[in-house]
Amino acid sequence: MGSNTTESKAISRLKELPTAQLRPSALVDFVLFFACDKPAVRLIVDTEECSEAMRFWSIRQGLDFASDRVGFACVGVHSGSAVSILEIDRRVEPHEIELGLALGYPLCCCESMACVGESNIDSRAVEIAAWKFDGEYRRINPQGYRSGGALISHLPCSPVCEASLMIANRARKFLLEHKSESMLSGLFRSLDL
Ligand SMILES: [Zn+2]
Repeated sequence: MGSNTTESKAISRLKELPTAQLRPSALVDFVLFFACDKPAVRLIVDTEECSEAMRFWSIRQGLDFASDRVGFACVGVHSGSAVSILEIDRRVEPHEIELGLALGYPLCCCESMACVGESNIDSRAVEIAAWKFDGEYRRINPQGYRSGGALISHLPCSPVCEASLMIANRARKFLLEHKSESMLSGLFRSLDL
């Protein structure tokens, strides 16, 4: 279990998330945040209401929160981390590794994304969608992320990335232990655990 919170507390914190206002992928990120020591979550907040709901939730949870004017927000464990991550993301110069590490992505995957370049992330996702993930490595297939059905929230560096599999396995264990929780049922429906 991650040190971000205890397991029973993780469930109650997830239950209080204003999920109705968030993208489906946000639940994947927050499962990783609470179960796998992901240090921060970057998310899209479509409306002022959504941003305020997340700010309120973060304050209640004792977490760091920041949002910008273009609809991005960040929740972090450490004080000041949220605003610093949004600042890294706005930089004109390449920042794939720094941003990826701040969001808890494996170094190998951050380096791979740095080679590809953040501006090519969509074409990289298309390329990865054609990869074959065998056996337990199916757990690191990021394809279902946007619809809220994935065990990792980053693009893996290869279809056999061990560091990604470690993250996915922790998330999977957490989900299997809490499969009776209704707010996790959407994740279960779309995942072959
Ligand atoms: Zn990797």
